[in-house]
Amino acid sequence: MIPVNDNFRFLEKSYLFSEVGRRIREFKRINPEKEIIRMDIGDVTRPLFPCVIESMKEALEDMSEEATFKGYGPEQGYDFLREAITEEDYVKRGINISSDEIFVGDGAKSDLGNLGEIFSKDCRIGLMNPSYPAYYDDNVIDGRIRITESGKRLNLINLECLPENNFIPSLPREHVDIIYLCFPNNPTGAAITRDELKKWVDYALNQGSLIIYDSAYESFVREGDKARSIFEIEEADKVAMEVRSFSKTAGFTGVRCGYTVVPKNLTGKFANNETVSLNSLWLRRQTTKFNGVSYITQKGAFALYSKEGRRCIEENSDYYLRNARLIGATLSEQGFEVSGAVNSPYVWARPKDSDKDSWSLFQELLEKCNISVTPGIGFGKSGAGYIRLTGFNSYENTRRAMEILQSKNPGL
Ligand SMILES: *Cc1c(COP(=O)(O)O)cnc(C)c1O
Repeated sequence: MIPVNDNFRFLEKSYLFSEVGRRIREFKRINPEKEIIRMDIGDVTRPLFPCVIESMKEALEDMSEEATFKGYGPEQGYDFLREAITEEDYVKRGINISSDEIFVGDGAKSDLGNLGEIFSKDCRIGLMNPSYPAYYDDNVIDGRIRITESGKRLNLINLECLPENNFIPSLPREHVDIIYLCFPNNPTGAAITRDELKKWVDYALNQGSLIIYDSAYESFVREGDKARSIFEIEEADKVAMEVRSFSKTAGFTGVRCGYTVVPKNLTGKFANNETVSLNSLWLRRQTTKFNGVSYITQKGAFALYSKEGRRCIEENSDYYLRNARLIGATLSEQGFEVSGAVNSPYVWARPKDSDKDSWSLFQELLEKCNISVTPGIGFGKSGAGYIRLTGFNSYENTRRAMEILQSKNPGL
């Protein structure tokens, strides 16, 4: 038999979403007449914008004629898209990024996972807790975070996100090589001010660390003091990469497109101390292992940078934000301590006057209100006692769910 990557042995069972699904099915089996409203959805529900569809249709026309047919494209993405991203997402916001620092890919999840290939297995990793589960699993698969037989996690530094610090972690006291930050955050919904983010950039400058900044929810930022991009902070281009996605901002979860910014100022060193540009390493990785995102998809993403595309992103994000705010306001009234929902489609909540665990809350909301949520513990131990609700359902369903919650007053 073939020897396999032993690191997979140390992954935890992907328990969270399968267990949520199992409990919902079980409830439906016993109560076939009841309809469950999904407030746990981690996927968008609104369709692609008409301007995206139009642009994709044109791309398809191009593919149907010999004169305009496209075969393999550049691995890093077509210039038309990289230039539009540079101009609209950075230069117009006063940020100095150039198009050869943009790498178009098939979504943030792939880029986050693949980036691990350019870093040493010895790097110490700082992870927000709770957080998006892929950061941890990627680093376990790579063998960077190592789990000893007694269950100790080596090379992992937990950056606790608790209400005491408004879910913004404190700087680690020890040295960390690679820090994953995600703002606006999934699952807590927290956004970070430029002042707070500057502390992380300063830490990284002092420590020689790298920040991988996940800003998949950038389009939901509404408060002016909150950062949309880490490159709003001076000198961040010496210490940070930024991973972005069109998934949540423009309904691209099924289309698959995003991009990663790898500034040319970022350097690393080989074991022999020779320095190397991270931009050139990532370019080499991508040109070796990736053949680019389809032309049709990139044309669709390009439409997001038109005036109409910008307007649709704003409107679409506002729609989900309105749901999240309704959820947040209702839970507050019902005696929950609530965060998120202001610069994020996520609501992170726990009852003020009880210390019920996440799964009990899940079960009670399911049984008393027929609403499904995501147990916060599934995102890490600092998520214990919390639940996550999302604004990704329709407004009508969200309103109905909140009316039920109000009328049942579950008294959790
Ligand atoms: C949804 C999500 C992603 C993944 O996005 P894709 O581009 O669809 O792969 C990445 N990071 C966070 C925090 C997310 O919530």
